[in-house]
Amino acid sequence: MIGVALRKTQGNLNFILYFCSVFYFKTNTFSTMSLITVGTMAFDAIETPFGKVDKIVGGSATYVAYAACNFITPVQQISIVGYDFPEAEMKSLQSRGVQTEGVERVKDKKSFFWSGKYHIDMNTRDTLVTDLNVLEDFNPIVPDSYQGSEFLLLGNLMPKLQLSVINQLKKRPRLIVMDTMNFWMDVALDDLKVVLKKVDVLLVNDGEARQLSGEVSLVKAAKAIMAMGPKYLIIKKGEHGALLFHENSVFFAPALPLEEVFDPTGAGDTFAGGFTGYLAKVKDISFDSMKTAIIVGSAMASFCVEKFGPERLKEINADDITARINEFVQLVNFDIDLIG
Ligand code: AMP
Repeated sequence: MIGVALRKTQGNLNFILYFCSVFYFKTNTFSTMSLITVGTMAFDAIETPFGKVDKIVGGSATYVAYAACNFITPVQQISIVGYDFPEAEMKSLQSRGVQTEGVERVKDKKSFFWSGKYHIDMNTRDTLVTDLNVLEDFNPIVPDSYQGSEFLLLGNLMPKLQLSVINQLKKRPRLIVMDTMNFWMDVALDDLKVVLKKVDVLLVNDGEARQLSGEVSLVKAAKAIMAMGPKYLIIKKGEHGALLFHENSVFFAPALPLEEVFDPTGAGDTFAGGFTGYLAKVKDISFDSMKTAIIVGSAMASFCVEKFGPERLKEINADDITARINEFVQLVNFDIDLIG
């Protein structure tokens, strides 16, 4: 009985992963549908056990866009930058099908700045500095040309700004995905809870799931968070993969064991961009489709961590992504014969 159950579970996982890679091979064309994203475009200073950088381009929306544009274009970006944000970075995004009409540039203020230091295991980090700068008076405006999009990804940002974007959309998107972080749970929990009521999918890491729910068990935490609004919950566990919850179902996607994790910054945003970009590409928002999407998100995140900042995401192409998804297939592909 256990043997049958195990074989069946493994069979399902293999099928999903096989389908995932075949689908990516076969539909490797860009869709004309769009995905609206909102989040930060920033400068980061990062210290990991492997090195240190003082000022590189980062921000939640930057990572989201570099990941999502591999699956869907246009990616319709909403953000704010200061006078110091490099024009070359905007051009690099635009050349990949990212629209920046919704990105405001403030001439007399600096861009958002974040600094973090990773612990030796790279799964945890300390935030050293969060300088809001232009974010202090950010009032996101959804351009008319963005209206009508069926997919919205609320990248990590002040919850009340995420809400403002939802409220400006004349037609509710088919799927609203929300990313957030412990910082907003600390300083804007009430606003966060208002947004949670309006979204379909929430992405958090395990520590944030525990903080938001007050539960230690991730299964109990998932139930408590889904009761706050989102029908689907993804709990990211860094190098230990990610869990997808929906009603009483749960699905697990591994993370690829990499020889070198150089810089985990942006892995969560990259995951979100890959996950939502894939769903927008296949236009299927069922639980089964989301299972595939978290494998795609994990594959994209595995690229992100290989270099500092979004550099690695700029180098990869469709063949690299397909090959990486196949590595995920191999990772969990095994036969099992139980005695008796
Ligand atoms: P992640 O590693 O996926 O959590 O994302 C890290 C990125 O998020 C960095 O590039 C930062 O610029 C950006 N970031 C850090 N803190 C915040 C915050 N409070 N709100 C929005 N973006 C942030």
